[in-house]
Amino acid sequence: LSIIILVFIILTLSFLLTSAETLMDSTTATAELGWTVYPWEEVSGYDETMNTIRTYQVCNVFDSNQNNWVRTKYIRRRGAQRIHVEMKFSVRDCSSIPGVPGSCKETFNLYYYESDSDTATKTFPPWMENPWIKVDTIAADESFSQVDLGGRVMKINTEVRSFGPVSRNGFYLAFQDYGGCMSLIAVRVFYRKCSSVIRNGAMFQETLAGAESTSLVAARGVCIPNAEEADVPIKLYCNGDGEWMVPIGRCVCKSGHEPVENGTVCKACQSGYFKTAQGDESCMQCPINSRTTNEGAINCVCRNGYYRSDTDPLQMPCTTVPSAPQNVISSVNETSLMLEWQPPRESGGREDVVYNIICKSCGGGRGGCTRCGDNVQYVPRQLGLTQSRVYISDLLAHTQYTFEVQAVNGVSDQSPYSPQYSSVNITTNQAAPSTVSIMHQVSRTVDSITLSWSQPDQPNGVILDYELQYYDKEQSEYNSSMIRSQTNTAVIRGLKPGRIYVFQVRARTVAGFGRYSGKMYFQTMTEAEYNTSIQEKLPLIIGSAAAGLVFLIAVVVIIIVCSRRRGFERADSEYTDKLQHYTSGHSEYPCPARHLPVPFFQVTPGMKIYIDPFTYEDPNEAVREFAKEIDISCVKIEQVIGAGEFGEVCSGNLKMPGKREMFVAIKTLKSGYTEKQRRDFLSEASIMGQFDHPNVIHLEGVVTKSSPVMIITEFMENGSLDTFLRQNDGQFTVIQLVGMLRGIASGMKYLADMNYVHRDLAARNILVNSNLVCKVSDFGLSRFLEDDTSDPTYTSALGGKIPIRWTAPEAIQYRKFTSASDVWSYGIVMWEVMSYGERPYWDMTNQDVINAIEQDYRLPPPMDCPSALHQLMLDCWQKDRNNRPKFSQIVNNLDKMIRNPNSLKAVTPLSSGVHLPLLDRSLPDFSSFSTVDEWLDAIKMGQYKDNFANADFSSFELVSQMTMDDILRVGVTLAGHQKKILNSVQMMRAQMNQIQSVEV
Ligand code: AMP
Repeated sequence: LSIIILVFIILTLSFLLTSAETLMDSTTATAELGWTVYPWEEVSGYDETMNTIRTYQVCNVFDSNQNNWVRTKYIRRRGAQRIHVEMKFSVRDCSSIPGVPGSCKETFNLYYYESDSDTATKTFPPWMENPWIKVDTIAADESFSQVDLGGRVMKINTEVRSFGPVSRNGFYLAFQDYGGCMSLIAVRVFYRKCSSVIRNGAMFQETLAGAESTSLVAARGVCIPNAEEADVPIKLYCNGDGEWMVPIGRCVCKSGHEPVENGTVCKACQSGYFKTAQGDESCMQCPINSRTTNEGAINCVCRNGYYRSDTDPLQMPCTTVPSAPQNVISSVNETSLMLEWQPPRESGGREDVVYNIICKSCGGGRGGCTRCGDNVQYVPRQLGLTQSRVYISDLLAHTQYTFEVQAVNGVSDQSPYSPQYSSVNITTNQAAPSTVSIMHQVSRTVDSITLSWSQPDQPNGVILDYELQYYDKEQSEYNSSMIRSQTNTAVIRGLKPGRIYVFQVRARTVAGFGRYSGKMYFQTMTEAEYNTSIQEKLPLIIGSAAAGLVFLIAVVVIIIVCSRRRGFERADSEYTDKLQHYTSGHSEYPCPARHLPVPFFQVTPGMKIYIDPFTYEDPNEAVREFAKEIDISCVKIEQVIGAGEFGEVCSGNLKMPGKREMFVAIKTLKSGYTEKQRRDFLSEASIMGQFDHPNVIHLEGVVTKSSPVMIITEFMENGSLDTFLRQNDGQFTVIQLVGMLRGIASGMKYLADMNYVHRDLAARNILVNSNLVCKVSDFGLSRFLEDDTSDPTYTSALGGKIPIRWTAPEAIQYRKFTSASDVWSYGIVMWEVMSYGERPYWDMTNQDVINAIEQDYRLPPPMDCPSALHQLMLDCWQKDRNNRPKFSQIVNNLDKMIRNPNSLKAVTPLSSGVHLPLLDRSLPDFSSFSTVDEWLDAIKMGQYKDNFANADFSSFELVSQMTMDDILRVGVTLAGHQKKILNSVQMMRAQMNQIQSVEV
C-alpha cells in the first residue's frame, strides 16, 4: 500500500509541475521591481485582468539617438542551460503619434549578460552591445494607436525568446529601446525541463532540457516496484521543449503482479488469481480444483486429491487419478487369453488414461499369488496400453492367474490411492507342448541312428512321451514310420545303410501332442564306413558280442578285453565316450582295478550302466572319462548362490567355443583342500557325467587344470525343492505337484535302470528350474562318511552316516541300500512335496522315528493330499522291500493320475491343518467287521471277547469311547495287551471321525 501511495504522490507531483521552471516573474512582485533603468521608468499598471502590476515604460520618440536600457536584477541560473524569456509588452504605433520624427521605432532589443555573482552596478556592465549579448530584436505583432481615457485599453504582445548555452551562476537581462514608445508589462524568465514521469513501466527522473532548442537529453529509467526489465536499455529523451520523446526499452510487471492505473503500478494478484510470468497481462483466475495460498501468487496449488503432471500447463485445471476400468472380460483359449474392458467411469479430468496389466499366478487356493515371470507375452504390450484390450499368451497350462487391469493417467504416480484396477481371475486350460527345437545325432551304425533332442521350451505340463516320425528322404512322407520314446533320446533301428532319413519329433502331454519339430536329416553309415570302423574296433566287438549273448561269457570276454584294452586306440569317431562305456552293444568297459561293477550283470543289453568312480584305481581317470574338461576362460562367475559341502556354489555363464552362452551353476572346491577332498569333490562329477536324462541334473564339465577346481552344471533357477516349496506354500495345483513328482520318479527310474542307487533322495537334493522341471541331484558321497560331523540330517550309523527320516528300515539296520530303498525315500519326498516342504516326522527324534516305523506307523496324508497319492506313499513305505513299487510303476501310476485328474479329487477329509498322528499300518479298519468280537479277533485279542461282552462293550459306538480305565476294568491286565487295545480303540475313533466327516 505504501508503495502505491508513494507512486501516487510522485505522479501527482509530476502532473502538478509544468514542464517549465520559472526563474523570475515580474508579475509576482508586490512592491517595486527595482530594476536598474537608464532611463526607463517604473510605473504601476494593470494587466488584462485588472491585477496591479509593475511595468516599465519609455516614450522618447521626439528625441533622436535614443539608447534607453532597463536591466533586471541578477537571476540565478539554477542548472538550466537554456533560458527562455517571455515578454508581454505594448508598443505605440509611430504613425499614430502626430508629428513624430522618422526615427520613431516600434521595436526593442533583448540582451543578456552572464556573471557568476551579482556584480552589476549602475554603470556596469556598460549600456552597450558588447559586453551584453543580443538575443533578438523584438517587434510587436500588434501596436496600438489610441489609448482610451482611462489608459486601460491596450494591445498586449507576448513574445518568447530563448538563448543558451549559459554556464555562469546567473545572468542579467536588459531591454534596449532606441526611440520607441512602449511599455514592458511583464517579464517571465524560465527554463524548460521534462518532469519525472512513469512511462513503459519505468520511472524517469526530472530532466532539464538541453542547451539548444534541438538538443535531446537522454534519461535512464528505473523499473517501477514489482516490475522487471523486459527490454533494455530503458531510456527516454527530453527535448528542448521539456517534452519526453523517443521511448526505448521497457519494464513489465513481474509474475504474480499485474499492471493497473494505466501501467504505472504493478499490483499483486489478489487471492484466487495468479500470473505465471512477467508481462503486461492481467492476473488470471485459478483453474478448477486449485487455489492460492497468498496474494501475488505465481501459480495456484492443487486442492487435496488433485494433481498436475510435469507437463501440465499451470493454466490447466488440476486433475485426479482415473477410477478402475470397468467390466473386464476375459476369454481364455488354452494358455492364452484376450482381456477386454471399458474405460473407467471417471477419467480424473484427463485425456491421457492408459492401462497396465499386472499378471499374478496363483496356487491351489491356499497361498497368495506371485508376479508372473518375463515369459508371458502381451500384444500390443503390457504397460501403457491405449486401447482397452490386450492379448496375453505363453501362460502355463492348468494354472490359476489373476490379471489386474490398472487405469493410470499422467498424475497416477502422485496419488497414494493409485492405480485403481479391476481384476479378473482365470484358469488356463491344458495346452499342447511347444515344439522341440534342437535334435542331434548321438551315434549311428549301418542300420540305426541314435538321436536326442531338447525338451520343448513350453512343456505346458508333464511330458508323457515323445513321438518320432521318420522316413527315407528318397521316399514319400506318407511311408513314414513312427516310434515313441519316454525320454528325449531314441535309437531308430532297421534303417538301410548309407541313406538319409528325415526326422521330426513331437512331445505329448495330457493335453495331447505338440506340433512336430522342423525336419532334420541324418544319415546311416555306409557299408564301407562300417567296415572301416569294424576293423578299428574288432577286439571290442568280440567282447561286446559275447556280452550280448551270455552274461557269464561276457565276464570272461571283458576280462580279455580289459587285459588288452590299453593296447588299443579307441574307435570313438561316431560314439560319445558315454555310449562306448555303457551301451553293451558297442561298449568298451573300463577296467576297474579291484572288481567289476556288480550291477553290470543285471543289465539288459543296450542299457547304460553306472560305474562307481571309486572302482577306478585312479579316480582322476574316472573324472577324465566322464567329465569334460572346461577351460576356465569359458567360465564367468557371477554370484554366490549357496554353500556346498566343499565350497561356495555360484551362478555364472559358460561360453564354449561354437556354442551358445548358457547360464550355469558352479560348485567350487575351497582352497586348502586335501587330495582326498579333491577326489571326493570330483567324484560327484564323475557320477553325474554318466547320466543323461531330463530329470537328472546335467553336468557341463569340470575345471581341474586351474584353481579353484570347479564342477559346472546346468543352472536350476528355483534352487532346491524343499526351500522352493516352503517359499511357495500352497501355491501350486495338485496337477503341478504331481507333475513335479512324476519328473523326480522318471529321473529315479533312469538312475535305477542304470543301477545307480542314490541313497540320499530327499527334496533338498532335488533342484527345480524355471519351468518347474525337477531334477535329481547331489551325487556326492562324502556326507555318508563317518568323519563328517557337520550335518545333523545324517546320523552316524554302523558303517557311515544315514539320513534316518528318508531311509528305508533295512538300509538303516543293515545298510541294504537298493533301488527299493530309494523308492522308500521317494515316498518321503512325495510326502515332502505334498506338504510343501514340511519336515518328515516333524520334531520327532530319530530314535522315535525308527521305533515308530518298526511298529508299522507311517506318515499320515498331508493336508489336502489326494488319497491316491497317500496310498502311493504308503506303498513306497512297505516294510518288505519287494512289495514296494518299482520306479517304472510309480511313473506309470503318476501318469495315469495326470491323465485322469478326477482320480486326484478324493482327499482324506481329516485335513484340519493339525498334524495327524502316525497311522498304525498293522491295525485293521474296524468298519470291515460287523461285530466287536470279529474286530477283537482281527487285532488278535480274541481272548477278551467275554470280558468285553460282560462289561457291555458290545457295540463299536461304546468301544470307541473306551479309556485306559475301561480297558483295565474289563480285565485286561497285560501291559502289551492294554496298549494294543487302546491303540486299536484310538484308531477306531479316528476312522469313525473320518466316516462322519464324509457323511457330513
Ligand atoms: P549342493 O552342494 O549340491 O547341496 O548345493 C548347495 C546349494 O547350492 C543347493 O542347495 C542349491 O541351493 C544350490 N545349487 C546347487 N546346484 C545348483 C544348480 N545346478 N542350480 C542352482 N542352484 C544350485
